[in-house]
Amino acid sequence: MAQIIDGKAVSAKVKEQIRKEAAEIKKQGIEIGLAVVIVGNDPASRVYVNNKKKACEEVGFTSYEYTLPEETTESELISLVEKLNGDDRVNGILVQLPLPKHIDENAIINAIRPDKDVDAFHPQNVGHIMIGDFNFLPCTPAGVMELIAETGVEVCGKNCVVIGRSNIVGKPMAMLLLHKHGTVTICHSRTKGLAEICARADILVAAVGKPKFVTPDMVKEGAVVIDVGMDRDENGKLCGDVDYAACFDKAGYITPVPGGVGPMTVAMLMRNTLTAAKIKNNIM
Ligand code: NAP
Repeated sequence: MAQIIDGKAVSAKVKEQIRKEAAEIKKQGIEIGLAVVIVGNDPASRVYVNNKKKACEEVGFTSYEYTLPEETTESELISLVEKLNGDDRVNGILVQLPLPKHIDENAIINAIRPDKDVDAFHPQNVGHIMIGDFNFLPCTPAGVMELIAETGVEVCGKNCVVIGRSNIVGKPMAMLLLHKHGTVTICHSRTKGLAEICARADILVAAVGKPKFVTPDMVKEGAVVIDVGMDRDENGKLCGDVDYAACFDKAGYITPVPGGVGPMTVAMLMRNTLTAAKIKNNIM
């Protein structure tokens, strides 16, 4: 039977630590600010943005929300990003993805000043992550690493399998596991023998976007199973990429959805924003 990795509890611990550090920094008259930009009316994006604003309140940061209509043009959005790049109150800029189809996400990511890119999506920050010399870690993979650390299982020397190769989750996830000396396999939609590869994993991270995709035959007895997915099941209920109930007895550790990786992503965003403020003010 698996031990549940409680992302809510771990994220609360991380945020409390950030709150204390932010309070110390505030004593020097420094306010920490995060700009959150949302374009359009995607309900899931609205929930994520609200969670991020709430986390800012919890840790004592100021959040600046910019809600733009669906028909906002790419150049209008870039103008806002450039304004925020030059705004001294703003330490971090977060543009909630996905953006409406007529806006090129890469163009927007590239417009964010790398030292305010608290999502760590800018190519410059991605490059830093690749070579293992970084200030900002990509929020979701960084959150997963914290959850793995919480289990006490060492990544070093373990077989790690990441299902998914997106720029936001899969690729940086694999890189962070590699930096910790895991032997990493990245799987994707063209992978052959996926179930067998997954079943050899000591640490399995699912970032597929398909409800209950990971079944017990894909899980090694006692493995650490991390579920990044935020999906809807056949009844419209929130679930992950892992069939949690079916895999529970086989896994050694498992994250629930909700209450696993999701809260950690937000906590890591707060950590990156704190880092940005510290670097700007030469507090390291
Ligand atoms: P994505 O960009 O759609 O990438 C999905 C990946 O899964 C792709 O690499 C795809 O392979 C792979 N895949 C799809 N079908 C597959 C199959 N049958 N077998 C093996 N691999 C398959 O998604 P994402 O942005 O990485 O997000 C993944 C999930 O995590 C989603 O549910 C998302 O909502 C969730 N998420 C959660 C958080 C959080 O904070 N909890 C943050 C970000 C994302 P190809 O590359 O070959 O197409």
